[in-house]
Amino acid sequence: MVQPLVPGLYIVATPIGNLGDVSARAMAVLGGVAAVACEDTRVTGKLLHHLGIKQKLIRYDDHASDATRDHLLGIAATSPLALVSDAGTPLVSDPGYQLVVAARERGIVVTSIPGPSAAIVALTLAGLPSDRFLFAGFLPSKDKARREVLTELAAIKATLVFYETAPRLAAALGAIGEELPGRMVAVARELTKKFEECRSGSPAELIAHYAAHPPKGEIVLLIGPPGEVVTSEADVEALLKSALADRKPSQAAAEVARLTGADRKALYARALELK
Ligand code: SAM
Repeated sequence: MVQPLVPGLYIVATPIGNLGDVSARAMAVLGGVAAVACEDTRVTGKLLHHLGIKQKLIRYDDHASDATRDHLLGIAATSPLALVSDAGTPLVSDPGYQLVVAARERGIVVTSIPGPSAAIVALTLAGLPSDRFLFAGFLPSKDKARREVLTELAAIKATLVFYETAPRLAAALGAIGEELPGRMVAVARELTKKFEECRSGSPAELIAHYAAHPPKGEIVLLIGPPGEVVTSEADVEALLKSALADRKPSQAAAEVARLTGADRKALYARALELK
């Protein structure tokens, strides 16, 4: 027999693409609460319809008025209330933080029903060190601010994980190539969906690939920690080409030798051929 849910706020993760990823517990909670607070009632309405669940939906995001938050907390104080976002785990680059803070302040029970989050799915696929990682949300869309964030995080000895959009991918990769040269990068795209892919390489290689195959869909961008330098021949070649874009052959060879440990004389000879 399903136990009735105690009053409180239930943070419920939902699929990031593949509807099969909704957990049995998420379904039980979504079916058992008094109402579901959600970012977009149409998006969550579709998910619940797919799951065969009828629920009262209340629109909520972190810009909601105090009155809306009070209303939701009034429900959660006496009945179970779920919070979902459009996809994935609420609070992870999604609404919910303000509501959780306010619920905790009022002594309302807060519990979380875990499930998919694109950042974690990407980390498991990318082939970059997963023992230490830093999730930093979306990279800023403006070039200067993006570079500032990258510089600020450059020395952190962990894999860096960002959310990104397809139209901004090339600019982000370009900035990574310049601000964090020599780092291995991975692009995880359309996770859990039909066209899921995870491609890794140097920023220059990835820029070249996505110039030829413009990316579509949702993207997680990962940057390997300092020290995880790119070392394959193709990576070294790509770095050299990238360095030659704005440096003399001797400077480009020296820079790539420093980053990769490859032989500087051989790099110089290749740089002259490429020039
Ligand atoms: N809360 C969500 C989570 O836990 O993953 C993230 C919400 S955030 C507003 C949306 C961003 O997450 C997208 O722009 C993309 O960067 C990333 N994302 C979401 N679903 C994805 C997927 N299926 N594949 C790759 N990235 C995804």
